[in-house]
Amino acid sequence: DIGGSGVKGAPVDITTGQLLTDRYRVPTPQPATPEAVVGIIADIVHYHNWEGVMGVGYPGVVKNGVTLTAANVDDGWIGYDLQQGLERVTGGAVRVLNDADAAGVAEMSFGAGKDQKGMVVIVTLGTGIGVAAFIDGKLVPNLELGHIKMNGTDAETLAAESARERDELSWKKWTKRVDSYLSYLEQLLNPDLFIIGGGVSKKWHKFIPHFEKTSVEVVPAQLRNQAGIVGAALSAVEYDL
Ligand code: BGC
Repeated sequence: DIGGSGVKGAPVDITTGQLLTDRYRVPTPQPATPEAVVGIIADIVHYHNWEGVMGVGYPGVVKNGVTLTAANVDDGWIGYDLQQGLERVTGGAVRVLNDADAAGVAEMSFGAGKDQKGMVVIVTLGTGIGVAAFIDGKLVPNLELGHIKMNGTDAETLAAESARERDELSWKKWTKRVDSYLSYLEQLLNPDLFIIGGGVSKKWHKFIPHFEKTSVEVVPAQLRNQAGIVGAALSAVEYDL
């Protein structure tokens, strides 16, 4: 799981969605160039003595193993073939997908979205805002709805978890921003359920019960910050994207 602040990995039992060992986390190098991050992923793979198939969540658009955007990482990622780069270094088969899509796959399989029909939208609040939508369990990948404009500003700049820290916002003020963002998404997509992921989802009681504008049901992710790892692993072996 390549994140804005850490690169994390663990072997996953894909039948239960549990990590088989503790995850190994390395701070994201600065600048977060593809070469530096690939080197760290190789270290994580070796740390776990892993030789099998591997799934990787990347914080941007991914098509056919190639990373196409880089909102919170180095611009060198635009057009980088991450799948090929990693297969060369690790020797195993690699599947790369967007990080929010990965977290969504895990929640739909083992967490808050299990057996949910209709349209489920997963919103991850972290360094950026990631969004994944599932229609009757089927992923619509690479949605990038964290970048819709609210009052002329990129939504993730206003409402990501990093905005709360950067602007030293009270929970109340940040909750209002997230509520406005979700109700805007609701107007555009009319989902049946929102699932909120990202590390901050473990503090869900501080904000989710206080939404006033959003009328669709909102629940916290159940796999919390392990969802990205679990979903990447699942997508590498069995999830039909
Ligand atoms: C990126 C998305 C990503 C999200 C969460 C956004 O800035 O554009 O692709 O899913 O951050 O990492």
